[in-house]
Amino acid sequence: MTVETLTRVEDWPGLRNADGGRWHYLDTAATAQKPQVVIDAMTRAIGADYATVHRGVYTRSAEMTLGYEAARRRVAALVGGEDSELVFTRGATEAINLVAQSWGVANLKPGDRVLLSQLEHHSNIVPWQLIQDRTGLAIDVCPLTADGRIDLDAAERMLTPAHKLVALAHVSNVLGSVLDAPRAVALAHGVGAKILLDGCQAVARLPVDVKALGCDFYAFSGHKLYGPTGIGALWARAEILDAMPPWQGGGSMIDRVTFEKTTWAPAPQRFEAGTPAIVEAIGFGVAADFVKDKGLAAIHAHESGLVRLAREALGRINTVRLFGPEDSAGIVSFALEGVHPHDLGTILDEENVAIRAGHHCAQPLMEHLGVPATARASFGIYSDESDVAALVRGIERTMRIFA
Ligand code: PMP
Repeated sequence: MTVETLTRVEDWPGLRNADGGRWHYLDTAATAQKPQVVIDAMTRAIGADYATVHRGVYTRSAEMTLGYEAARRRVAALVGGEDSELVFTRGATEAINLVAQSWGVANLKPGDRVLLSQLEHHSNIVPWQLIQDRTGLAIDVCPLTADGRIDLDAAERMLTPAHKLVALAHVSNVLGSVLDAPRAVALAHGVGAKILLDGCQAVARLPVDVKALGCDFYAFSGHKLYGPTGIGALWARAEILDAMPPWQGGGSMIDRVTFEKTTWAPAPQRFEAGTPAIVEAIGFGVAADFVKDKGLAAIHAHESGLVRLAREALGRINTVRLFGPEDSAGIVSFALEGVHPHDLGTILDEENVAIRAGHHCAQPLMEHLGVPATARASFGIYSDESDVAALVRGIERTMRIFA
């Protein structure tokens, strides 16, 4: 089977080794490499085009403001939302914390329940725990199916009118399992709960349309979408976002400030206190257009082909234990019998192959799998069959070393 590549390796400076050769980068789920178009756009934004946004009366600042707001439109369009519904944050982590600290504190009270799942990233667990004392909310944990999906049959049995929020990963960062998001939305809304989808791993791997899904909150990061770090987004349904109180105070988020009373700017500005990450936002917007142009259905098909190839090859090694469903999106977690994932990662590094080894910020999932850590290979738009072949070669060498 051949996997068609969607892009040219030459367009990705990060895929080159120190000696100029190809680096088999299989850690895109942690952070994606950046295409030259994003790097160029950010270089212009921090260089020749640089100025502040929203405040300047001079032309350069007005132009930068247009660029910043155009980036918001591009990122919102990627997920099918309106720009007025899209708040720039530092990343998915900050987006989920924003929902917890603003919507959560304003709306959750003792007796209310939040449904999470066993496979959530810590950033969709800890923000809810942080507001537990202030709100009195209780957390329920939806179990997984045997192949590592969020078990929505179980969710259906667990959900009650006391549930005010369901917060689930759209794609698991460890197992690659894809949530049946339309069903999750229907189940949450069926009991009157809001639903937040952690789209950190989904936006770069699947077509996402928040309006078609009907979800209430959608959180994601720029750096997993081939854009920069330090920027991410919260999309929230307009009527919910408009009613949410600010969570950080400062410049840009106000309407009028007096010592007696301060009034707030409308959303999304109300949630963007201080000088924003201007250059990062511009890069994020270019990255959003980049993946949109490539086509998320094509990216998904490309990564699915690589997952199939990797699972087939790893499945032939009888000391490999594969985790997660067959049809995972771009991510394959596994364990090699008798070899700690960190040792495997170190030997693969000598072979020019970069994987992630660890708990992947999902310790409750590790507990469920009965392992302290997994090895994880994750693909991106630039991955190809040579990456899978290099991974398999490296694993075979590791087995010889440990034999
Ligand atoms: N959720 C998921 C599913 C993730 O994979 C990650 C990043 N590993 C996050 C949330 C947090 O994203 P960030 O660190 O970019 O804020």
